[in-house]
Amino acid sequence: MVRAAKAAEASASAAAMFAMRLEAGRGTLVPAAVPIPRPGPKRILLRVRACGVCRTDLHVVDGELPDPKRPLIPGHEIVGVVAARGRGAVKFRLGQRVGVPWLGHACGACRWCAEGRENLCDAARFTGYQLDGGYAEYAAADEDFCFALPGRYSDVEAAPLLCAGLIGYRALKQAGDAESLGLYGFGAAAHIVAQVARFQKRRVYAFTRPGDAASRRFARSLGAVWAGDSDREPPRPLDAALIFAPVGALVPAALRAVRKGGAVVCAGIHMSDIPRFPYSLLWGERRIQSVANLTRGDAREFLALAPKIPVRTRTTEFPLSAANEALDALRRGRFEGAAVLVPPR
Ligand SMILES: [Zn+2]
Ligand SMILES: [Zn+2]
Repeated sequence: MVRAAKAAEASASAAAMFAMRLEAGRGTLVPAAVPIPRPGPKRILLRVRACGVCRTDLHVVDGELPDPKRPLIPGHEIVGVVAARGRGAVKFRLGQRVGVPWLGHACGACRWCAEGRENLCDAARFTGYQLDGGYAEYAAADEDFCFALPGRYSDVEAAPLLCAGLIGYRALKQAGDAESLGLYGFGAAAHIVAQVARFQKRRVYAFTRPGDAASRRFARSLGAVWAGDSDREPPRPLDAALIFAPVGALVPAALRAVRKGGAVVCAGIHMSDIPRFPYSLLWGERRIQSVANLTRGDAREFLALAPKIPVRTRTTEFPLSAANEALDALRRGRFEGAAVLVPPR
């Protein structure tokens, strides 16, 4: 019997894949050989072609978000091709290229789901956080939360659309009809949002880390009419500001930069504490709001819009095995645009 179990284990381990996992500690992923997931009912197995590296991954790995699955395979900007389909999975054909975003499951029954706000679902589950993600050779996902991807993008180019693009787009919608728009933190999300905003005839003002001349140049190259340090005020008051950097001190700075009635939208999942500020900064019907996650409606809208603009993504590729180096480069702001992991072919 023991011998049979050993043999089964051996044959299971033959169907193993390489993954980068968050195990007991924090801060560093560990290379591991793990079983290839089996897609359950209505789920699909993807051979991962590329997976974007999002700031949220950094928050998960650094222990800034509570209770991630352990061990966890991070990654929620997954581009892959369908390698197998579970029972009842019919939405995509074998070999089709699909994308998997952060929202991996919503219940469909709670008040938020009923209101079309599944991003706030009480029972939502998130890819690369409560569900294993794409820092691996294979990933499984609920087909109802996967999307066909526009053909004009390569696998690597498409990856950042799936979170930086989708959640950036949701944040942009919260700015309403703002004509002048401040973007605080000019990373993966802002570099996509700037292109959408320009397409919508808005004027983009980019705020970067003080002294970061490379990011200011990058913002101007994408059509920002002004780019300056985040502690500076723009030449004229803004209609709205989107904050992508996880820095609470930017909230009062952005309130100072928006006109009466203007909005400050916090687009990240985690932010350091917001320092005290005088009520006069909020006065004049200015408002502060957060953006949580995404809905599938956001994904459908954005993935249809992006190729029409067309949004171009700036990417820096890392091999999957260098996931820690990619996260560290993001932590230190070492590249423009988005980092993307590519598994061995
Ligand atoms: Zn729900
Ligand atoms: Zn993300």
